[in-house]
Parts: sequence; structure tokens; C-alpha cells
Amino acid sequence: MDNPLTPPVLADPVALTRALVDVESVSGAEKYLADCVEQVLRDRPYLQVARLGNTVMARTELGRERRVVLAGHLDTVPVADNLPSRVEGDVIYGCGTSDMKSGVPLALHLAATVPAPWYDVTYFFYECEEVESERNGLNLVARAHPEWLTADFAVLLEPTYGGVGAGCQGSLRAVVTTTGVRAHSARAWHGVNAIHAAADVLDRLRRYEPRRVTIDGCEFREGLNAVGISGGVAGNVIPDHCEVVVNYRFAPDRSEAEAEAHVRDVFAGYDVRLTDSAPGALPGLTAPPAVEFLAAVARAGDGAPPAAKLGWTDVARFAALGVPALNFGPGDPNLAHTREERVEIPRIRAGARALREWLA
Ligand SMILES: [Zn+2]
Repeated sequence: MDNPLTPPVLADPVALTRALVDVESVSGAEKYLADCVEQVLRDRPYLQVARLGNTVMARTELGRERRVVLAGHLDTVPVADNLPSRVEGDVIYGCGTSDMKSGVPLALHLAATVPAPWYDVTYFFYECEEVESERNGLNLVARAHPEWLTADFAVLLEPTYGGVGAGCQGSLRAVVTTTGVRAHSARAWHGVNAIHAAADVLDRLRRYEPRRVTIDGCEFREGLNAVGISGGVAGNVIPDHCEVVVNYRFAPDRSEAEAEAHVRDVFAGYDVRLTDSAPGALPGLTAPPAVEFLAAVARAGDGAPPAAKLGWTDVARFAALGVPALNFGPGDPNLAHTREERVEIPRIRAGARALREWLA
């Protein structure tokens, strides 16, 4: 195999970013990139390597007191005429430059060049993060080999623009149904209009005041919103059924069950059906390896304080297993999945410096 991840490339996180970006790996098509990564890791005698599908795991077994995880997904969203990568000044453009092929090289560079890190380290390079959870490489590992995920602390290399994205919010979707009585619209007084009844549901949403919760110094700002509405039978029928889909983004001090109870409370008197939910993750900034990590990031970067991660990320999978986890990566999260996706080279270098100082 002609592996583009050569020793000089592995030694330089910026060159490694470009090399990873230039191997196209849209979700479901990560095999070649996973093969390249696996080969690099298997060449290192100090790493124990295993693979599940297109997810590659490598770990040191140095008998250190603590173990940390560095994890990054290999896949990207579909290419948008933005490959191969190009460099303009201090900026690399291309699919995955932010999410997250500028984060993955920070871990791969360390795995390839640091035989005796300060903590034992488990590295994950995983598949299918950008698609449904059923295919997510970390989710598959959690089911097949949960022991691979055992650690005291985990860093996910998702884009945070060089800051620390602590924990994450939970997310829940539910369908609130209003009912009425069907009738001919020419004699509407014989019926009860379920669409009109939905006005009260929308009114409760409009009046709703979302919480702001501060945990470990990070503010999590909640939201409860309608994200869909459907109803109507025909142009001459008073409808007897209307559904409002709501999405609740909740701070990690609430469990999924508490979040569900809250939504049921808000829509008391209505039929509320839960369609899906995912737990949040506490920031976990007080675990000893996290404290040292934050200090290393502050020394290497711009020293911005940790902020709450407001989207849902795979940190929640670690949190569910009792492993504190946070997000840290050079890319700008607002550029993820865009045609103009790019990353600033100094941020890659700062991220690499922080991780090296923390682990090497
Ligand atoms: Zn990502």
C-alpha cells in the first residue's frame, strides 16, 4: 500500500492535516484512510492496535496510574467541490479541514511520535460520526468492546477553534398532539378544529423561558422549540388531528428522564410522545488529568476559558460510561460542513503544542 502518511508527514501536524484532508473519506468510505492509519500505528511497537470495522484503536500499556483517551472521527460530510486541499497564506482550505481533519492529526502525530506519554493513552480513529448513531464507530465500540473505552478522562478532537468545549447539552424530541372532531367545513360548528387547538401549544412555547445553567464555570443555555408542525385532512374538512414536533436542548445537570418529565410538564393536558433523546455530558473539568490539560491549553493557546459545548457530541458517550470528556480542536465549528471549510495553520500548531506539553 502506498501510504501518504510517511514519517516526515507524521512528524508535522500541519503536513499531516493536508495529507488527511487529501484522502477523501466521506462517511461509509473511510476504509482506505483507516487502512493507512492502522498501518502507521501497527508499525509502532509501543502501541497495542485493534480494529472494529473502520475504527482503529491503539493504546500504550505503560502501567501508568491514569489513562486518557484521544479520539477523532475519520469521516467527513460529502465533498463540496473543495478537494484537494489548498493553502492560502496561513490557511488550509478543503473538506474536513475544520471537522475534524485538523483535530485528528494532533492525536495521530502524538501516537506516531511519543512512545512514552505521561499517561497511558488510548487513541481512537473512528468511522461514521457524521451519520446516524447506529453506524457511529464509537457507538459500535461501546457495544462490542466497552472495555476499550475505559479511561479517567477523554478528549474529543472536534472543532472548538482552539478553546475547550466542555461537556455537551442533551437533546430530546417529542411530538405534542392536539385532537378535535372532524366535520364538513361548511358546517364547522359540528366539529372541533385540532389545528386551532395547536395555537395553545405554540403559545406555551412562545412564553417559555429557557434556563441558563452554570456548571464548573460554563454556561449552558437551554432551548425548547417547535421544529415541525403537521395537520390537515382535506380542503373541506375540519381537522381532528395536529402534531407539533418539539426539540428540547437541555443542560447536563438534567438526566434524560428529568428532561422528559419537564417537557411533559410544559405540555400538561396534551398527549406527548417521546421520539428520541440523547443525554448531555457534564463538563468534567475537575478530574486531575483535565486540570492539567486545561493548564497546558492555557499556556499554549490564547488562554480563553473553557466554554460549554452547546451541540451534542460524542463526549456524551464517554460521560455515559462515567468518563469525563471534553472537546478540543483547532477548527472553527461554524465552518464545519460548509463549502468554505478551512483552518488556520497557527491554530493547528498551538493545539499540537498543548497536547504535546500535556502528554509528552
Ligand atoms: Zn466532527
